[in-house]
Amino acid sequence: MGILYHINNKHVWAGGRCRHSEEHEAECSNWLQRDTVVFKNLRMLVTNRDWCGSMKFYTNCRQTWAVENFFSHTLLHYCPKQKSYGYDAYHIRNMLAVMDHNNHLGRMPLVGQDGEVYAKGQVSRRTKQWVAYEEKAPKDFKYIPG
Ligand SMILES: [Zn+2]
Repeated sequence: MGILYHINNKHVWAGGRCRHSEEHEAECSNWLQRDTVVFKNLRMLVTNRDWCGSMKFYTNCRQTWAVENFFSHTLLHYCPKQKSYGYDAYHIRNMLAVMDHNNHLGRMPLVGQDGEVYAKGQVSRRTKQWVAYEEKAPKDFKYIPG
């Protein structure tokens, strides 16, 4: 809500203050007045109940897709759940999976002879709609010395 004070050239208010320098206040001269339509529209956006209610999600949202992607595409390849491993073998297989994953993170998309990127369609489980994905170039294992 601090932006509603800041744009009115009020940089200290009950419960907060701006973090910029006082020089910044002197540099700006076109502050909005509270009775203008522009200010009222901005206040309506900033104080929108739905948007404010979703802020908790956006400030605490943590994406896990990268970990899940690593787990499903790489780790399960090296350590399938159907087999059991001793601790050392499991540990080494995990290390191989991490090396494989990290060395193939920046793979370029697969390009055909016409210069177009290969795309493939896949149905999204969440949205139940087809989504186009770029097909990545095949993995090479040049980082492993002979
Ligand atoms: Zn301010």
